[in-house]
Amino acid sequence: MKLFDLSGRVAIVTGGNGGIGLGMACGLAAAGASVVVAGRDEAKSRAAVGELEGLGAKALALAVDVTSQDSCRALVEQSVEQLGRLDILVNNAGTNVRKQPEDYRLEEWHMILETNLTSAFMCCQAAYPAMVEAGGGKIINIGSMMSIFGASFTAPYAATKGGIVQLSRALACAWAKDNIQVNSVLPGWIDSALTRRARRDIPGLEERVVARTPAGRWGTPDDFAGIAVFLASPASDFITGAAITVDGGYSVQG
Ligand code: NDP
Repeated sequence: MKLFDLSGRVAIVTGGNGGIGLGMACGLAAAGASVVVAGRDEAKSRAAVGELEGLGAKALALAVDVTSQDSCRALVEQSVEQLGRLDILVNNAGTNVRKQPEDYRLEEWHMILETNLTSAFMCCQAAYPAMVEAGGGKIINIGSMMSIFGASFTAPYAATKGGIVQLSRALACAWAKDNIQVNSVLPGWIDSALTRRARRDIPGLEERVVARTPAGRWGTPDDFAGIAVFLASPASDFITGAAITVDGGYSVQG
């Protein structure tokens, strides 16, 4: 058995058309997996597929709105139809609205919960029968530093990212019998479309992150290729329910 070989495996990456999701998709593709790039923005998804094909992988763009159960189900069905099976699911799609807790409208709360947390549950439910059929599977859910810390400007987002860790643990317990491992990855501060706004809006954020991070820099999407391969491959077969930080040491700085 080759520990990190993903040849013949099929992966879905939600939000795989940019940022951290594309970094993970590139890792999976380079290790031999066929990758379904699932997002809303078709032009971004097409460009991502081109990048993955450039790595020698089979790749496919499928449109999904992860807040819709029908759309999540259709994503899995079409992936299996077109690529024959499903082994790996990365629940990476996410969003944020930064405000003080007293200022959120209830619709914003629901939108963030549906996009970041309910979406992961719906995709996992949709993927389960196909993974059982494949004899096992690997689910990687994307948390955040807000899975473990609080911050004044991000109450609903923190609720979803704490929820992602607990959802992963519960699914890990439930589906170990099916040889499905479920883990979460907790990124530190990573340069992406999501944080570019925060860097602009929050004075001093750029420098504070660098100062607190032992590695001395912001992360990049490429930093997620390795953890994706590890958690999707036989190398992690006895690891389930874990929450793994990929943060340059941000969360252990005293
Ligand atoms: P991006 O904004 O680059 O990525 C977000 C992705 O989610 C996009 O690809 C977007 O696709 C997709 N998405 C959002 N809403 C939906 C939806 N309703 N249906 C389908 N796809 C959707 O940001 P990041 O790469 O930074 O974020 C990826 C994940 O990493 C998120 O879960 C985020 O919370 C998490 N994270 C990021 C950190 C960071 O520092 N950047 C830190 C900690 C966690 P499309 O454009 O097609 O809509």
